[in-house]
Amino acid sequence: MSGSGQGSGPPEALEAVLAALRACRICRDAPLHGPPLPHEPRPVIQAQESARLLIASQAPGTRVHASGRPFTDRSGDRLRDWLGLDKERFYDASRVAIVPMGHCFPGHDAKGGDLPPRRECAPAWRARVLAALPHLELVLVIGRYAQAWHLGPKAAADLTATVADWRSIFAQERRPRILPLPHPSWRNNGWLRKQPWFEAELVPVLRAEVARLVG
Ligand code: SF4
Repeated sequence: MSGSGQGSGPPEALEAVLAALRACRICRDAPLHGPPLPHEPRPVIQAQESARLLIASQAPGTRVHASGRPFTDRSGDRLRDWLGLDKERFYDASRVAIVPMGHCFPGHDAKGGDLPPRRECAPAWRARVLAALPHLELVLVIGRYAQAWHLGPKAAADLTATVADWRSIFAQERRPRILPLPHPSWRNNGWLRKQPWFEAELVPVLRAEVARLVG
């Protein structure tokens, strides 16, 4: 897997990593990039060691911050539709891991939009969490922050080009394999209208892979 911060020792048990992550207060008590979180941290994650599919997502919004469960919002409805999964299978942590680039809601910017994922989070947690998920076969990298970590900075520079290149990214010999996706936010309706190949060509392949891995 890509990104930085991979430790050199043996992987920790996932339960130990999750317990430490759920107690994390870095962005509230000792932020490294910008002001402290304006609210109490509430790290959101879904993972069990047996998961074969990883959804590498962005960061919780206000609804997910309130529920404490990933994708309990309209983005989740669209993502589940793309994947062909009902809620029961989507929230089956034994099969589907959901690991965002920033585990806590980062707050709002001056225009009321969500801030980007906290930059402290991926270096602190991502390699530890992923090292404790040894059965992953496919990673869905959603949006430019996850694509930068999993595919390198070039991917972040042009999300459309990265997603358009999905066939060659998916065909690369590596484990787990990777499929790049746009964020399922309704803010991306315009992007989806301009890229009809996404739903016509990529989504059917995505659904078939997810059905194979999740059942
Ligand atoms: S966003 Fe990540 S690093 Fe920051 S407090 Fe939450 S879990 Fe910790």
